[in-house]
Amino acid sequence: MKLSTPLSDIKGVGEKTWLQLKAAGLVTVGDLIQFLPRTYEDYTKVSQISELHPGNVVVRGTISQISSRYVRRGLHVTTAVLSDGSGKVPMTWFNQPYRAKHLAGGGEWLVAGEFAFSQRRYQLLNPSVRSSEEVIESGNAIVPIYRQVSGLKSTQLRALIEEIRPVITMLPELLPEQLVSHANLSTYADAMVALHFPENSSDVERGKQRIGFQELVELLYASELNRADNAALESYVIDFDLEAVKQFVAALPFRLTNDQRRAAWDIIQNFASGIPMNRLLQGDVGSGKTVVAGLAALVAARAGYQTAIMAPTELLARQHAETLAQLLEPFGVNVGLLIGSLSKKPKDQLKQQIAGGSIALTVGTHALLQESVTFHQLGFVVIDEQHRFGVAQRQKLLAKSTVADNGATRRLQGEGKPLEFTSKGKVEGQAPPRAVLPHLLAMTATPIPRSLQLTVYGELEVSLLQEKPVGRKPIITKIISPTSRTGLLASVDKEIEQGRQVYVVCPLIEEQEGRGKREEGKIGTAMVSETIRQSSSDNTLAGLRARGAGLAEAATLSSENRRIISAGAAMKQPPVSNFQSQVSNMELASVTTEYERLQKTVLKHRRIGLLHGKMAADEKDAVMRRFVAREIDVLVSTTVVEVGVDVPNATVMIIEGAERFGLAQLHQLRGRVGRSEHQSYCYLVTTESKQTTSLRLRELEHSNDGFYLAEKDLELRGPGEIYGRMQHGQLNLQVASLADTRAIVAVKRAIAWAKENSIDLLQYEGMRERIERYRRLTTLN
Ligand code: ADP
Ligand code: MG
Repeated sequence: MKLSTPLSDIKGVGEKTWLQLKAAGLVTVGDLIQFLPRTYEDYTKVSQISELHPGNVVVRGTISQISSRYVRRGLHVTTAVLSDGSGKVPMTWFNQPYRAKHLAGGGEWLVAGEFAFSQRRYQLLNPSVRSSEEVIESGNAIVPIYRQVSGLKSTQLRALIEEIRPVITMLPELLPEQLVSHANLSTYADAMVALHFPENSSDVERGKQRIGFQELVELLYASELNRADNAALESYVIDFDLEAVKQFVAALPFRLTNDQRRAAWDIIQNFASGIPMNRLLQGDVGSGKTVVAGLAALVAARAGYQTAIMAPTELLARQHAETLAQLLEPFGVNVGLLIGSLSKKPKDQLKQQIAGGSIALTVGTHALLQESVTFHQLGFVVIDEQHRFGVAQRQKLLAKSTVADNGATRRLQGEGKPLEFTSKGKVEGQAPPRAVLPHLLAMTATPIPRSLQLTVYGELEVSLLQEKPVGRKPIITKIISPTSRTGLLASVDKEIEQGRQVYVVCPLIEEQEGRGKREEGKIGTAMVSETIRQSSSDNTLAGLRARGAGLAEAATLSSENRRIISAGAAMKQPPVSNFQSQVSNMELASVTTEYERLQKTVLKHRRIGLLHGKMAADEKDAVMRRFVAREIDVLVSTTVVEVGVDVPNATVMIIEGAERFGLAQLHQLRGRVGRSEHQSYCYLVTTESKQTTSLRLRELEHSNDGFYLAEKDLELRGPGEIYGRMQHGQLNLQVASLADTRAIVAVKRAIAWAKENSIDLLQYEGMRERIERYRRLTTLN
């Protein structure tokens, strides 16, 4: 048995199991070894029901009052009551129709799961249940819980992992052995055995420490290499026309904020340096990022370089093109809008103008990426709402820059040896390859915590727009209990009477029904790593440029984004796609229910529109256009409205089931309003009255500052929400936490120690591939 042995060769794996494993991305013995438990149930720590506190618990007792039924199509609910000597606790399972039969056996059970407030009471949601006998027989008081593999029982999965135990115990060391002893770590094999077959909770801790260390070494070393690389790259020297910029600024209908000036200045300096700009423009929603990009495009145009701005939706692209044309055409900068819905003739004509260079600024959607779109001299690339784009897309756009045909570039484009960008090259007296790359500005409204900027995105430059344009009134935010909804709608009706418009965002449905949030996170991992794998073998210029750009994905992945990312990879992973569509069906149900419900309220005489992720792109666009044109008063929507839309006349944002959203996402949603001189309101409607005390919602009520809120989110929820998505989704860190500054410091020291002792980490076979992957992921360019 080897790491590459297919799982079909393992004892007990029949045809059916093999297919199920494959569908879950588990093909080889090595894959299964890397499939670490997502959590552990510790049956040595049994609580009394009367003393339960919210959180993960284990309880022992008997089960009664089992009920099992479909509450509607696609939603099956099983409920039961668990009793021990001290009290009773209700339990609920969603979509586990087999559960009732399993429980009917009677006897004593060990129940493990989350004790939480839901549906008006404290209960155990989707707990796992094992008979006391089974636990005693297996002799394992601490049980690893793996992400569910569809069609496979967890006992089957554990048995399978038991089969490959001999391989795990013999896993070769990945880190340099001197480093393992220097840093006082467990060996790799010991750690993996401890994680898959723990005997107690300290085994788990020990294993996690070692694997977390390993992950951080790979990640931080990758970031260090990237930093070194960037210095070896070349870009166009774009000189700065002061007079034009002065005139542009003077012609604006408003005064630029100081932050906008500073950001523009940062960009101008990068342009002049001849080193590729690699800049993130991070500004809260409504902070005015577009005009900064416009100013930079003017500078580029004056120096003879074209600019391409890519936006995630046609609506946004159109919006940008209109704004920018107004600002820039008076200065002789021709603006083109390239979107999929253009008809053939004007599109062909536009493409010719872009190729010929008479269009200096092209705004577009994914349509920009088509092969047939070529530029005359693309010097500046802007990605708006950059977290909405995948690696491959950014890659394609950046590749459209015509590159000087020198030896280095040819090499980059894949001739000859694959790229090697190590500082080692320099040591051996070999000049690192040089390539000419366009300047890149990525724009995002999502704050990336400073610790993350420093650790992971070391080579990235950031400009911040913290100052709000003057004249904006802070949005009034209120938490609303479900019982006050009627009064709320009456006051909203008055706003509509005044000519304003309203968004109603429906709850995220992901956790309670279906299979649980953690699993969704993991599914994300599989899919994203698929995307990464696809681009990882790409050593062309584009591949280089696109290494990852994962930054964004970094900080925010709304459920909508996750679905978008999923869409591509899901094709390769059928069960994942089923799961995804199951989730969005539920979301669809929730949004249509809300839509119908509103039509029976005081708002029934208003024009109500519906928008959700399952609609085709052009349908979505049509609805948004009607909203912009004020033909819709109330837009009921899923989180698709989260991104970039600028409808200044909308002043009310109602978020239903607000407790289900993360702080960062709530803030993003709120940013859809407050974009004009009118007073705006954001109402956070909770599902249950009790939830109005949520600290998270209170923070939002008190602050309009996205950066403050991002820090708070970290504090309140740990790194889960903000970079948790990245950790698990993008970077594929299974164990390490980027919030663990102590571990980060220790790892940085270890890397420095290795360097001092002339240990080249890239020489270590088991790490090289992952280091290279992280490099692609943690750079913007
Ligand atoms: P975002 O950063 O969310 O992309 P936009 O670029 O869409 O923000 O800008 C939001 C609105 O603010 C636009 O209508 C824009 O014209 C306006 N705006 C930008 N800068 C200023 C400023 N300095 N003063 C007043 N209004 C501004
Ligand atoms: Mg914007």
